[in-house]
Amino acid sequence: MSTIRIAIDGPSGAGKSTLAKGLAGILGFLYVDTGAIYRTVGLHVLNKGIDPAEEEEVARSLPELQIELRYDGAGQQRMLLNGEDVSEAIRLPEVSRAASAVSALPPVRAYLLETQRELARKHNLVMDGRDIGTVVLPDAEVKIFLTASPEARAKRRCLELEARGTPQAFEAVLRDIEERDWRDSHREAAPLRQAEDAVLLDTTALDFSQSQEALLKIIREKVSI
Ligand code: C5P
Repeated sequence: MSTIRIAIDGPSGAGKSTLAKGLAGILGFLYVDTGAIYRTVGLHVLNKGIDPAEEEEVARSLPELQIELRYDGAGQQRMLLNGEDVSEAIRLPEVSRAASAVSALPPVRAYLLETQRELARKHNLVMDGRDIGTVVLPDAEVKIFLTASPEARAKRRCLELEARGTPQAFEAVLRDIEERDWRDSHREAAPLRQAEDAVLLDTTALDFSQSQEALLKIIREKVSI
């Protein structure tokens, strides 16, 4: 039986994770946060004292890396790095930067591609990332490109960091987001871009429930669920 795959791509802070997780809950699908997988690689590299932009050294460290995705009782995705739960540690700003750097390296992308595809062969899922509709699941049943203005995204990220007890100044968060946007969309390996057949949703002026409603409408126009 073939699975139903909903691919949601877009820049950081567009609300992908929260919305994708909510949608997966409503639809009874698995939610896969691929950013968390790249963040785990970023953390691994930082732990090893490797410069995340050094392609050869990063590539050499990949065989020592054991990444596992687990789902807890509440259906939350947990990330395990060599057996240790790193789900909270991967959210720190230095890990965001390391994730963005390692994700530009072709060996890292190649290494993670099959893991992501394998999940999609086994489960109906909502998968979010940067290249899900363009590279990982180019034949996904539903493709959505979710975006919002950099300022709106920085504001949301600030609230998120505050809630986690690691507040950051708005200006610094905005600069970080703009830098990551630039790197994610200008890299050669699987750059962030909207797939031709993806539906664009801009959430700048939408709150969570309005965004969720808009997404459900897009999904139900494509598949009968
Ligand atoms: O989505 P999130 O901000 O957690 O992703 C962390 C970093 O991982 C992003 O800045 C991006 O560079 C990278 N990423 C990627 N491809 C994906 C998901 C994330 O390159 N599919």
